[in-house]
Amino acid sequence: MNSDSLDTEITNECANNKMIYSMSIALQTLELTPKEYQTEEYHEIYNSIKQFIEKNCIHQIEYDSIDISPDCSKTIRYCLKCEKTFN
Ligand SMILES: [Zn+2]
Repeated sequence: MNSDSLDTEITNECANNKMIYSMSIALQTLELTPKEYQTEEYHEIYNSIKQFIEKNCIHQIEYDSIDISPDCSKTIRYCLKCEKTFN
């Protein structure tokens, strides 16, 4: 394995942004097929993309406040790129 291998960790943030963005769109596109029409192979592709995002996203954390009752709100953290939420 040399340093140009595609398997090496993604360090370029711009490339990471583009890849995660494209993968997120791919995921949304795959969700357009109703579950009952999806074959096992289709589902595997869907899961691989999900895992790719999970493994490679260099999170860009955003803070947001959500109301849980009229006088109580909670601050949540989530990633702008993959939409994962953090406690
Ligand atoms: Zn993320």
